[in-house]
Amino acid sequence: MIEIKNLHHHYPDGTYALRGIDLTISKGELFLICGPNGSGKTTLLRIIAGLIRPSKGYININGFSPDSMIFRRMVGVIFQDPDAQIIGETVREDISFGPENMGLKKREIEERVDRAIARMGLKGLEEKPCYLLSGGEKRRLAIAGVMAMNPEVLLFDEPFSHLDYPGISELLKYLIQLHKEGHTILITTHDIEKIITHVDRIAVLKDGEIKASGPPEEDLLKALPSFGVRPPCYIILKGRKISWLD
Ligand code: ADP
Ligand code: MG
Repeated sequence: MIEIKNLHHHYPDGTYALRGIDLTISKGELFLICGPNGSGKTTLLRIIAGLIRPSKGYININGFSPDSMIFRRMVGVIFQDPDAQIIGETVREDISFGPENMGLKKREIEERVDRAIARMGLKGLEEKPCYLLSGGEKRRLAIAGVMAMNPEVLLFDEPFSHLDYPGISELLKYLIQLHKEGHTILITTHDIEKIITHVDRIAVLKDGEIKASGPPEEDLLKALPSFGVRPPCYIILKGRKISWLD
């Protein structure tokens, strides 16, 4: 579904952020991109979202290139900082922006917004000013805003950052649900503990290169420290496989 070949990216200041990424992601996969700070995770996500153009290489989703409107409509991105994404005064207004910009009919917009509010557990908060929301609620609002545009592929950049224990647990349940419903989901993180037992495949990024990839099996997880990523506790403790939700 997502095909990436020999992707390179230089920023204008000369930073060489991605150095030849090859990646294929199948429909319905929950795919984790992990790696230390500065490894290129956000850059890769922004390219997949169509927000920046790679300096070199090929990317295509369902056969469409980032130049096409269809490509951009297929992908929704949830940024690391929800405040960067929230533009409305109230919850309802914020979620409405996306579908309004798509030029949909009023009734369709209302239906989509109501559905997104219900699915992200924001009922009762519709008229609340966005700046009064908790960290977890803001994160869910950002997801609801994206969901209202009905993208097939969801990209999450460090979704667990700045959330407390209840916030992470709740978000994790929504992520698992979205995966079950058939969305293709890409998540970047430097901290794989929270999500590892739920992912189909994982790629380890370091210095702009994929150093290892595959299902989250023991050999791959054991190699993580050499790439600057902490392995999950069950590998460290050699114990049974547990979810962060257990
Ligand atoms: P990660 O998300 O893994 O922390 P990034 O993709 O944000 O990594 O960054 C990869 C590299 O690109 C880093 O060296 C970072 O400093 C650099 N970088 C990121 N954004 C920019 C930018 N807008 N201009 C110049 N360099 C950037
Ligand atoms: Mg990042």
